Amino acid sequence: MLRIAVQSKGRLYDETMELLSEAGIKLVAVKRTLLVPSRNFPVELLFLRDDDIPDSVASGTSHIGIVGLNEVLEKNKKVEVIRKLGFSKCRLSLAIPKQEKYDGLQWFAGKKIATSYPEILDNYLKKNGIEADIHVISGSVEIAPSIGLADAIFDIVSSGSTLVSNNLVEVETVLNSEAVLIGRADNLSAENQEILDELLFRIEAVKAAETQKYVLMNVPRDKVDEVVSILPGMRSPTILPLADEQWCSIHAVVNEKHFWEVIGRIKAAGAEGILVLDIEKMVL
Ligand code: ATP
Ligand code: MG
Repeated sequence: MLRIAVQSKGRLYDETMELLSEAGIKLVAVKRTLLVPSRNFPVELLFLRDDDIPDSVASGTSHIGIVGLNEVLEKNKKVEVIRKLGFSKCRLSLAIPKQEKYDGLQWFAGKKIATSYPEILDNYLKKNGIEADIHVISGSVEIAPSIGLADAIFDIVSSGSTLVSNNLVEVETVLNSEAVLIGRADNLSAENQEILDELLFRIEAVKAAETQKYVLMNVPRDKVDEVVSILPGMRSPTILPLADEQWCSIHAVVNEKHFWEVIGRIKAAGAEGILVLDIEKMVL
């Protein structure tokens, strides 16, 4: 049985549960328990505060965990990042009151910086040869400058609106973070390694599908070559005959990144009745 440490509630919770559900893992419905087994896959979930997840994996209490990269680096435990998961994206940045004139990192020399991430900040300042006073607070970091507790802050930023409403401006991005799957290579039995491999295989299939669309369209026979030349595909598009011999149906997988460009070009080339479907899983 593979034990996975996940956040019990908070910003990681919803997308973690969604990912596991899309990977086909159904949980036994147990309310208000810390440890919940799956009813169709040999894993159990241990629900923790995100701060405790790196240590749970490092100490071997859990085999793997899903947590923000920021927490992994801050806690600095003996764990490895197995896979980036692409959700809960945010950054850790230095921000200063907006009326200050910023002239580079030297601005921070001798200043007091409030943060909940002293380890990451300390490493960054040392690496850049800046000596500053790190003031650790566990929450509401962004109000520290306005109440005179600090000159600047080092905190999580996503949209930046919290900074704006506190009259702060982001001056240095120190870390780009996202949810990651962590583990410890030396802590898995052969059986658990197999379960982890199957889980990773399913996560790949879910992630690959997220950025792709399945597109179907009708194309006049004499335009097929032109449309096919525009379409990317896993191998090449599928071409099926229609009852009307002058027409074909073409099916293809299109990456979301090029989606609108591709649709515009195939329309111009003569495709009609274009249907676009979400792909649930993609096994490559
Ligand atoms: P816990 O009670 O489990 O300790 P917490 O309050 O420390 O939770 P959350 O606010 O739930 O933490 O954030 C969890 C993680 O989600 C953060 O460590 C970070 O990786 C990511 N995160 C935080 N804020 C944002 C945001 N605004 N947008 C996207 N991701 C974020
Ligand atoms: Mg926390």
